[in-house]
Amino acid sequence: MTSAPLPVADNPDTGGFWAAARRGEVAVCRCARCGELLHLPRGICHRCHGTRVAWEAVAPRARLVAWTVAEHQVHPAFPVPYTVVLVELRDAPRVRLAGHLPGRPALVPDMPMRAVFREAVPGVSLVDWIPETTDVT
Ligand SMILES: [Zn+2]
Repeated sequence: MTSAPLPVADNPDTGGFWAAARRGEVAVCRCARCGELLHLPRGICHRCHGTRVAWEAVAPRARLVAWTVAEHQVHPAFPVPYTVVLVELRDAPRVRLAGHLPGRPALVPDMPMRAVFREAVPGVSLVDWIPETTDVT
């Protein structure tokens, strides 16, 4: 089986997200000067142009915004069907993140979702989103 592509976990702009994922946390990037949420994360604030940013953990909870089911396999590491979800963080409503679910789960708009963390390779953990009522951890 071909390995799934991995994120660049040590990127200076997004590395804080992946460091948090390794700890089993969801984190957002915030300007240390004015408090603006920076999503997509970057090293300079789009509001005040401050260059000090900080990562802060938020609740690993979200609501389902959209999803699509992939029926045609485009990568050998991702057998079909699978579902790509887009969620909006409960504690940071402007931050939307994507996730992967196997199969065709029963989903409804705005349903509560929670993060699950999976170590893809040593040192790199992925964040996926599942319905809050699912027993899977
Ligand atoms: Zn700022």
